[in-house]
Amino acid sequence: MCGIVGYIGKRRAYDVLIQGLHRLEYRGYDSSGVAMITDPGELNIYKSKGKVSALEHFASNKDISGTIGIAHTRWATHGEPNDINAHPHCSQSGRIALVHNGTIENYTVLKEALSQQGFNFVSQTDTEVVVQLIEYIMDNNHCTLFEAVAEATKRVVGAYAIAVIDRQNPRQIVAARQSSPLVIGIGEGEYFLASDATPIIEYTNKVVYLNDGEIAVIEPDKELKVYDSNAIGKNKIEITELQMSIEQLEKGGYPHFMLKEIFEQPRTLSDCISGRITADGKRVVLSGVIENRSKFLNTNRIIIVACGTSWHAALIGKHLIEEYCRIPVVVEYASEFRYSNPVVNQGDILIALSQSGETADTLAALELAKQRGAFVFGICNVIGSSIPRAPPSGCYIHVGPEIGVASTKAFTGQVTVLAMMALLIGQMKGTVTDQTVEKIATDIRRIPTLIQDILSQSEKIEDLAKIFTYAHNFLYLGRGYNYPSALEGALKLKEISYIHAEGYPAAEMKHGTIALIDNDMPSVVIAIKDNVYDKTVNNIQQVKARGGKVVAIVTEGDTVVRNMADYVIEVPEISECLTPLLTAIPLQLLAYYIAVNKGRDVDQPRNLAKSVTVE
Ligand code: GLU
Repeated sequence: MCGIVGYIGKRRAYDVLIQGLHRLEYRGYDSSGVAMITDPGELNIYKSKGKVSALEHFASNKDISGTIGIAHTRWATHGEPNDINAHPHCSQSGRIALVHNGTIENYTVLKEALSQQGFNFVSQTDTEVVVQLIEYIMDNNHCTLFEAVAEATKRVVGAYAIAVIDRQNPRQIVAARQSSPLVIGIGEGEYFLASDATPIIEYTNKVVYLNDGEIAVIEPDKELKVYDSNAIGKNKIEITELQMSIEQLEKGGYPHFMLKEIFEQPRTLSDCISGRITADGKRVVLSGVIENRSKFLNTNRIIIVACGTSWHAALIGKHLIEEYCRIPVVVEYASEFRYSNPVVNQGDILIALSQSGETADTLAALELAKQRGAFVFGICNVIGSSIPRAPPSGCYIHVGPEIGVASTKAFTGQVTVLAMMALLIGQMKGTVTDQTVEKIATDIRRIPTLIQDILSQSEKIEDLAKIFTYAHNFLYLGRGYNYPSALEGALKLKEISYIHAEGYPAAEMKHGTIALIDNDMPSVVIAIKDNVYDKTVNNIQQVKARGGKVVAIVTEGDTVVRNMADYVIEVPEISECLTPLLTAIPLQLLAYYIAVNKGRDVDQPRNLAKSVTVE
C-alpha cells in the first residue's frame, strides 16, 4: 500500500507533495512525511505519525522551500507506525532520501551485511536498507545516483516503487518500480511522480506508467529518461492521456467519500453500462470478450481470483456465468491460489478481479496462471493500473475513482460487468435464449433508476441504524445470488464500524452459527422473492424462534416477511440474477450510518488501506 509523491520543477514542491499525499491518503495513513532539497543544497525531512494533517501541522513553522521533493503516506508492513519508521528514510550520511511502497523480502540479510560495513539503522523498516544500500554503492563504486539505484535494484528482492533524491544534486529524482505502481506526470518544464494519477491530474493529463524493472531519471527541462533494469537500454516512453477530472476526486458536498460513492451509483452504473448494451437491448458488447470469442467458447473452466469485496463480487459472477454460460467457475482468494500450486490448464481462463488493478496477490495469481498457460483476463477500475496492463485482454468497470476505503460503487460495477459478460458469453455459446438476454439486459438498464429509488429511503435506513448502533455482533444471512451479498454486507459493517459481523448462507446457519443468536445479536436477512424465498422465510422463523431481532431486505410489496421481521427495507423487483445490485445499497447505507453514529473514521478506518499492494 502506501502512497508516493514526487515533484521537480519550478513550483514550491511542498504544496504539490502535501496535496498529493491527501489524494493518496486512501492508500495508507499510519504516518506521512516529506523531503525537500532547498536552494543551498539542504535536505529537509519532516515526518509525523498519523494522517497528513498531522504532518502539515508539524511542518507549519519549518522551512518548506525547495522545488524538488518526495513524500510518502504509509501503511506499515515492517515496524510500528511511528515517527521514526515514517518515510522518507535517509542514508547514514544524510545525503540520500528515499520513499518506498512495497516490501523488501531480503532486508534482514542486507541489513546484516550493511551493519558489518558500519551502517547504523535507526528504523525497524525494510525500506531503510534500500537507502543505505544506495549510499553504500555510491561510495564504493564512485557512481551516480542513477547507477547506484540500478545496482541496488539488482540486489533487493521484493516489491518496490521508490523515489530517491540526492542532496548534492537538486535537479534530479531517480525512480524505479518492481510490482508496485508508479506514474510520472509530464508538465511544462516540470515532472510529477505518484503511486497513481490522482495527485497529478490537476497539473497535467500527460502521464507515463512505469513498467516493472524500469528506472526513470527525472530532471526538469530535460526529456524524461526511462531505462531497463540493466540500466543500459533507454526504453521507449509511451505517453498516456488521462481522462479523469478533479471533481471526481472531491467529496462534492458529502461528509464522506463513502456516502458520495454510495449516492453516485446510479451514475457510475450508467457509465459502466454505457455503450455496452445495443440500442435495441438485445445484445451485450464487451470488446475484450468479443475479441477473444474463441477462448470463451472453448474453455472448460473459468477461475476468478480476487480479494476482499472483489471476492464477493466474484462469487456472484460464478453464479451468473454458471447459470447463463454453463461453464464451471471456481472462485479463489488470490493469496491462497498463488501459493497452493494450483492446477491450471491451457484451456482455463483466469479472471483477475480488482478495483485498483494493483492488488499484489491478484496480480501475482494472474502472472502464475499466465505462466501455466491459462488465458488471463482482467476486470479493474483504475485505468492504466498493473492488472489491466498485464494480460492481453480485459475490461474496465468505469465507475470513476473510488476513494472511500470501504468499496461500494466498485462492487456494483464489478457485478454489473460480470452480469454483462455472462449474458454475452452465454449468447455466443447458445446457452441462454435471446429472450432471456433481452429481459436481463433491459433490467440492467433499469438498475440506475432503481438504485435511485432505494437511495430515497436513506433517511429510513439512517433511523434504523440508530437502533442497532450499539449491537456488538451482527449476523448477515442470504442465499443463492444473495449469499455473497450477505458476506459483503457483513464486511462493510466490520471494516468501518469495527462491529463484529458474520455473513452466512442462511440455511447453513443451523449447522452451528444459530447458537450465537439471542436478543442482542441482530440478523440482517436478505429475503427477496427469488427461487429460495420460502426457504429463507423458514430461516427467518428459526431466528425469530430464538428471540433474535431481524432486519429483512425484501422485495417491494412483500407482506409475509413484513409480518415476521422486526424491520424491513424494500427493494424493487428485478431479474433474480441482478438482485445483488439492489440489495447492496441498503447494506452499504446501514453500515455507513452505524459507523457514523459510532463516530468512526468512515473513509479511513483503522488498520486498513484501499489498494492492497503488499502481500
Ligand atoms: N515496507 C514499507 C514500510 O513498512 C512500505 C510499506 C508499504 O508500501 O505498504 O514502511
